[in-house]
Amino acid sequence: MNDKFQRREMRPIPPGGEDVLDRITAWLVRNAVSLGVAGLLAAVGTGHFARAGWASPYTILWLSALLLFLVLATWRFVRPNRISPRHEIEFLGAVAAGLTYFIHVTGAGHSPLRPASFLLVAMVAAALPIWINMSLIAVLAAVEGASRVVPVYPGVPWPEIAMDLGAVAGFQIVLAVGLGWIVQAEVRRKDSWMGRFQRLTSDAETFDPLVGSRGSETALAMEDEARLTSLVQSAQEFDRVLADLLDTIKEAIPSNTVVLFTRREGEDALEMKAVLSCGEAIDRAAVVPVGVGYMGWVAREMKPLHVAELKGDVAPLGYYGSAEPVESFLAVPLVDQGYMRGVLAADSTERGAFSKADEHLLARFAVQIVYILRKTTEQQQIIQIARSSRVLSEIAEAIGRSLDVDQVLNELLGKVGGLIPYDSAWVVLIDPASSERGMVRAAAGMADPERVVGQAVDARAGVFGLMMENKHPVLLSRLEGKAGQGPFASLGGTADAALRSFLGVPFVLQERVLGFLLFGSFTADRLNGFHQSVGGLLAKQVAYQIDNAELHKRIEQQAVTDPLTGLLNRRRFDEKIEEEMERLARAGGPLSLGLLDIDHFKRINDTFGHPVGDVVLKIVAQAILEQVRAVDAVARYGGEEFALLLVETDAPGARKTMDRIRMSIEKGQYMLDGREVPVTVSLGFTTCAEGRAGADELMGEADRALYHAKETGRNRVCSFVEMSGRGPETAASGAGSAAPVGRRT
Ligand code: GH3
Ligand code: MG
Ligand code: MG
Repeated sequence: MNDKFQRREMRPIPPGGEDVLDRITAWLVRNAVSLGVAGLLAAVGTGHFARAGWASPYTILWLSALLLFLVLATWRFVRPNRISPRHEIEFLGAVAAGLTYFIHVTGAGHSPLRPASFLLVAMVAAALPIWINMSLIAVLAAVEGASRVVPVYPGVPWPEIAMDLGAVAGFQIVLAVGLGWIVQAEVRRKDSWMGRFQRLTSDAETFDPLVGSRGSETALAMEDEARLTSLVQSAQEFDRVLADLLDTIKEAIPSNTVVLFTRREGEDALEMKAVLSCGEAIDRAAVVPVGVGYMGWVAREMKPLHVAELKGDVAPLGYYGSAEPVESFLAVPLVDQGYMRGVLAADSTERGAFSKADEHLLARFAVQIVYILRKTTEQQQIIQIARSSRVLSEIAEAIGRSLDVDQVLNELLGKVGGLIPYDSAWVVLIDPASSERGMVRAAAGMADPERVVGQAVDARAGVFGLMMENKHPVLLSRLEGKAGQGPFASLGGTADAALRSFLGVPFVLQERVLGFLLFGSFTADRLNGFHQSVGGLLAKQVAYQIDNAELHKRIEQQAVTDPLTGLLNRRRFDEKIEEEMERLARAGGPLSLGLLDIDHFKRINDTFGHPVGDVVLKIVAQAILEQVRAVDAVARYGGEEFALLLVETDAPGARKTMDRIRMSIEKGQYMLDGREVPVTVSLGFTTCAEGRAGADELMGEADRALYHAKETGRNRVCSFVEMSGRGPETAASGAGSAAPVGRRT
């Protein structure tokens, strides 16, 4: 704010208690014009104007004063319609008194007390509350009566006195009736807004978004779309109630503008929530920082403020976009259990337009608005929860469909954006093998999420270590945004320097931290407790899903692999052969099947022990894997017997692979338990082109070739095709000869 504003005196009204001096000052300020005129008229009237004649200086002075008064009053009357009923009474009372006086002084029989009595009427009508007005009119009548009983000017003829009395009484009656009418109108108006106020109050109090379902779980489950819709509608209803309330305030407290500012969520700033103004200059997008201007002062101090004389300087009010002839300003804070929720303010084009009573009234409305705002907040939270539970169930459904963890996590980040207003988000999963290592498995929001995924994370460092240990979320809502110092700085992928609020939620399952869900926002305070709880719910769900997926993967793996060697098991290999045979039938192409058996394995077991035998099995498995392509399938088919399926491989290709395997094993030097273990293997294989043979048939051929290799001295490779001296075509015809021979394992 500018200096001019800073120097401006602000006069907060002490909460509670009537300040008599304050009241008198306000009254004097408000009625300065009326009082001035009244004083002037009194001075003139109590002189000898009546006897001095029309051309006397007294008369001229008096007439000028009356003219001035009428001009002032008229000017006031024709001003834009921003004048309160009170001001209308003031004006009408003064005009009536002036006219009465005029007629009176131009008539006969002039008591100096009588003009004074009319002036009293003017002042009374101008300044005081209605009930005092009415009482004083009665007093006036008594004074009038007294002046008849004790004539000041004896000798005035009776008819003249009677005429005079009649005129005076007539005007008194007109005045009384006129005032009475206005009073009645005012009372009706007051009644009507009091009634409205009460109706609004009870509206707000009985308003309950969960009517009919409070206390039941279904209220929060919100599976019902219609319920959510009705909630959103009732939120709009709140806005309507608020607008209604403002309208009522404007009627109750005569003002140019009534405005409601509410605190921005989590920020030290007020924003315009609702406004009702006679002027055109309102800046509807106004945002006022706490502590700046009159509004900001009220928000910071949480005290009411009354400024009686603005002299048209509307800058400190903060809600006018351009000049507005505003003179008085009254504002009360909206305080909800010690928390500043906003400011309710009224202004007027009248100087000193607001009284202590107005302030009390405004404060009463403020209480009401606080109540409505609280309800609205609760309501919004319920809507948020309803939405979140919907999104949660959507996520649950989506991730329930998939056992692919990465897909689950990406789905999660995509959907959670509607609930948690993040600018950047990451999912880090802890390495199941080591709780010290983590890896970014999904990222969203930053410019290049692909680059961020796969990044390693030290799970012991900073907030990660904290969450690993405490297993609780971490919410940091007001960080400075220093370069490279954010809690998620190590994750990369974002201008970490600019992130001001952070939320980290660990995935915890049975006391084990599986990973973290991490969010960052460029706005301080953007991520709050609500998001923390939503994050918590999500994390729980995701933790189960990750665990589930891992378990599923393990079980699936176990079902198809041999635990000792990690190769496929027999069941899976049989399936593979079937699959390949089917493919062959469709697309053709050669396929080779090999069987490998370790030579004299029994001897190895017997000589070196069973554990050494196991190691040999692993070594052989590894040796086979090293010689085949990724597309080939290798299985431990029996105890020390392995099977190989070489896709798209003809007989010469298969022989090459088989030879390589045999040789690599023969050449290997195996020092186990400090002794060298000699390992050789025998292999038999067969090849087929078009799907001419069944899987069993093919297996039988390979087995016979293997048998042949054993028979002919071991540590060799034998081809069924070569061995039988027949081509694949002729072999197909000899179905009987292809029957499996007895197994030698
Ligand atoms: P050949 O050269 O004729 O194949 O002689 P072999 O001794 O290898 O043949 P045989 O079938 O007589 O012996 C197989 C042995 O493999 C018998 C069994 O104890 C052993 N065996 C089977 N499964 C395992 C295993 O998982 N671990 C160990 N250490 N030995 C196994
Ligand atoms: Mg063997
Ligand atoms: Mg064997």
